[in-house]
Amino acid sequence: MQRRTYLVFLGVPGAGKGTQAKLLEESLHLPQVSTGDIFRYNLKNQTELGLLAKSYMDRGDLVPDEVTIKMVEDRLQKPDCAQGAILDGFPRNLVQVTAFDAMVAPYGGVTLVPLINLEDDEAMRRITGRRVCRTCGAVYHVDFNAPKESGICDLDQGELYQRADDAPETVRNRLYVYYKQTGPLIGYYYAHSLLADLDGAQPIEDVQSKLKVLIDKALQR
Ligand SMILES: [Zn+2]
Repeated sequence: MQRRTYLVFLGVPGAGKGTQAKLLEESLHLPQVSTGDIFRYNLKNQTELGLLAKSYMDRGDLVPDEVTIKMVEDRLQKPDCAQGAILDGFPRNLVQVTAFDAMVAPYGGVTLVPLINLEDDEAMRRITGRRVCRTCGAVYHVDFNAPKESGICDLDQGELYQRADDAPETVRNRLYVYYKQTGPLIGYYYAHSLLADLDGAQPIEDVQSKLKVLIDKALQR
């Protein structure tokens, strides 16, 4: 079986996983596979798995691992994943890791696990500072990308608000869930010599160039 490239991104919310994955998507010509996108796709198209997942979500329950695993497995069999994929948000616990290992084993296994490190304080500052325009959806940041007038969109004078997902309490909970569920994956991948540490406090382009060097090395293994 031909070898494929599978990258698994780890890091706290706000570390820049999505941004780095997006940049790599273009340079490596590999699709970014995020569980958020997969869920939205299955719900929108009312697939059997989507409806099953919805039945749990409607009851306020977590979607079981086996449903998530099956959805990812289906996604990875699509033609655009014939060379591999960049995973963001999966696997997120040890049950999913074991299933994912089995899924990619015929193609040479996981290529590299970039871990983007970032202090909790900085992650909080990045996420809780986000503001979104109610009218056009433009995204601002109170420190890094402030609108000309506080609370008002530059483009259409719409009202800026903080998404519920970005509120301090929610972010604290997202960090807790990350450390509890995903934390053990760091040890797991370290033990398999797949972990690549990156400093998420560095500028986006610096992280990206370091990442490319590490991926090149991993592909030569
Ligand atoms: Zn606006």
